[in-house]
Amino acid sequence: MKLKKSVILLMTILILSFVFVGCSQGVSETSTQGVGDNSTTTENPDIVDTVGLEDTSPTISNTSSESPTTSINGVMRVHFIDVGQGDATFVELPNKETMLIDGGPSKEVVADYVKNLGYNSITYVIATHPDSDHISGLPTVLDDFSVEKFYMPEKEHTTQIFEKMLDSIASNGCEAIYALSGKSIIDTTDLKISFVGPTKQYSDNNASSAVVKLVYKGNSLLFTGDADYTAEKDMIAAGYNLTADVLKVGHHGSSSSTSEVFLKAVNPKIAVISVGKDNSYGHPTQEVLTLLSEYKIEIYRTDEVGTVIFECDGVNYTIEQLKSTIQANAPPTPTVVEENNVKTETSTTDNTAVVYRTKTGTKYHNAGCPYLKSSIETTVSEAQSIGLTPCSRCNPPK
Ligand SMILES: [Zn+2]
Ligand SMILES: [Zn+2]
Repeated sequence: MKLKKSVILLMTILILSFVFVGCSQGVSETSTQGVGDNSTTTENPDIVDTVGLEDTSPTISNTSSESPTTSINGVMRVHFIDVGQGDATFVELPNKETMLIDGGPSKEVVADYVKNLGYNSITYVIATHPDSDHISGLPTVLDDFSVEKFYMPEKEHTTQIFEKMLDSIASNGCEAIYALSGKSIIDTTDLKISFVGPTKQYSDNNASSAVVKLVYKGNSLLFTGDADYTAEKDMIAAGYNLTADVLKVGHHGSSSSTSEVFLKAVNPKIAVISVGKDNSYGHPTQEVLTLLSEYKIEIYRTDEVGTVIFECDGVNYTIEQLKSTIQANAPPTPTVVEENNVKTETSTTDNTAVVYRTKTGTKYHNAGCPYLKSSIETTVSEAQSIGLTPCSRCNPPK
């Protein structure tokens, strides 16, 4: 037993040191321009080439070679997946790459959700920190998808699920990289993804959270994991530009995160809280909800509205889940959102209408929905009886 444990530990260290050393060349170069993320740093095409050359999988590296001068015009879709008490965000990037931040608390939910969107590979996977409500879905993701790069903070954990994740990283064959503030994931003129945290190593898991800033032209998002007050203070002190349209609220709305000074630094229009209904932690706390309201920030809670999909083109954005189109820079419109909800709830009642489902998905769809990859004919009442909910994209009868 002891021997097995030490063999696993040794293997883990070997794997991590190998991959860490393997990417160190690229890291030392990218880190210099990752700092000051939002400022107009000079682009260096050599960095992208270096990363491409180091990649052991030529088929994948082709898709990641992004010329910094090529303009990107696609739509970006950010799915704050309703995973219950935990965190998982899947991003369909406008350059056709994909990114998953955390895997939620259950084994299959996130993998199924991403498969349902039609993907069998994910370009970037980030484990913000080793707590089980963030990484439990990642072994399945690593086992089922081809992953190009895997990021996590340099923070060990002794749980079985953490060891399982390390095993899956090793067998996936992806490049594993330590997340640290200043490192870039993508650095082009139109699209920038970088770490603004952790700024150093912490003994606490939550404080160690990788904090990701994503900027697509005029739209920006900040994903904070479970970063706490201490980590927030350190990010501010390090001088990062933390401003973002959308804040994925830290630690499920716990009062140990979202200090007022941090909220001011981020200055978001929208706050998304990923949280389970009636969870035992009391998340989100009234303290955080009140603070967000005081700053007139629109709040979307996954326990109240389910999966939240933020879609943007670099200028305007919409929030799909609520079927409410909100233009960038428009004032918060909570009353309109409420009206729209009532409208959709009462609009259709045909339970015998034909709809379609997939083998493993949790949604039912209209024919021709882009999210419908394989179609099994069913009816609204049948679909609802096995626990499926209407797709937010094609809006089938309810
Ligand atoms: Zn945590
Ligand atoms: Zn958490």
